[in-house]
Amino acid sequence: MRPLQMVDTKTQYHKIKNEVDAAVLAVMESSQFIGGKVVNDFATNLGKYHGSKHVIPCANGTDALQIAMMALGLQPGDEVITPSFTYIATVEVAALLHIKPIFVEVDKRTFCIDPEVLENAITPKTKAIVPVHLYGHAANMEAIMAIAKKHNLFVIEDNAQAIGNDYRFSDGTVKKTGTIGDIGCTSFYPSKNLGAFGDGGAIFTDNDDLAQQLRMIASHGQSKRYYHDVVGCNSRLDAMQAAILDIKLRHLDEYIAARQKAADFYDRAFAGQSKIETPYRDLNNNHVFHQYTLLLHDADRDGLHKFLADKGIPSMIYYPVPAHRQKMFDAFGGSSYHLPVTDWLTERVISLPIHTELDEEQQQFIASAVLEFINL
Ligand SMILES: *Cc1c(COP(=O)(O)O)cnc(C)c1O
Repeated sequence: MRPLQMVDTKTQYHKIKNEVDAAVLAVMESSQFIGGKVVNDFATNLGKYHGSKHVIPCANGTDALQIAMMALGLQPGDEVITPSFTYIATVEVAALLHIKPIFVEVDKRTFCIDPEVLENAITPKTKAIVPVHLYGHAANMEAIMAIAKKHNLFVIEDNAQAIGNDYRFSDGTVKKTGTIGDIGCTSFYPSKNLGAFGDGGAIFTDNDDLAQQLRMIASHGQSKRYYHDVVGCNSRLDAMQAAILDIKLRHLDEYIAARQKAADFYDRAFAGQSKIETPYRDLNNNHVFHQYTLLLHDADRDGLHKFLADKGIPSMIYYPVPAHRQKMFDAFGGSSYHLPVTDWLTERVISLPIHTELDEEQQQFIASAVLEFINL
């Protein structure tokens, strides 16, 4: 059996090695390392794939979120509503801009922001909602967009984990996650579903004015070369990453299908186990399984993590500390929050290896080990 990894980017690379190597060499020959045709072509192709009018490439997913908040004109003291059960980047950029993150609960099944409690968190200072499509499952965008519209709030989707997810509205309209709110943000961190060979990110919008603002902010607030209208930052996707991503984009749907197939295998293996809750899949979205995350009931989660590690099986706790309990947010009153669902999930989740290169032998080995521990 091949060694087990949380994600196997090396085997994935070997399958497209010839194409990737040629594309990287071509960038080297061209010496056009920043910007230029390769980056523009990738942005165009990504826009086509998403059905998004504008794609602004940037340096990473964290920058994408920061640039989004800057482009919307959010000011110090403004509030953005976001889950605490998320990766830190989502809320860190708000804090960096002196915007106050307001943490709300997530839905127990989808792990995404709970629209039921979202509305109660709105105050006169609220400017935006930042839903995170955690693990590859979409947040309830239909409800979130309705709330945003009612209260005149912006929506910034953190789509770093769900690129390619098709979200279906009740009227039958289908949109990719990341193209539903005012702005969508994604990351091309190597382990993400569309991963670069280094850092990368992108911002999506259908709004022409916002697109112009986003581009300007990502490029030193520059309206034309050496004319700087607003304070921005320097956030670029380099040409080598764009060349690689453009090739991988052609395989994205196939990569998603491979992840879903692996998820189906685990689902079958754990069916009927009362202590194991397999990932919920809302029918209105196409879960892209950035992570395959189990919820354990009346079982020793940390014990399982160790048991698997002893057998050479990696597993991860995403995330061991929710944002509101991070030291970083003491100054924002983080410790005063009461988020029992978030705390409950934090103690029970465990993510198993899932990626495009898992084979059945590997999955069988992983599933058997989980079942062995659970039924000890
Ligand atoms: C990965 C990730 C980010 C940040 O992306 P980087 O490219 O690492 O900066 C933001 N939000 C979520 C939910 C992520 O998973």
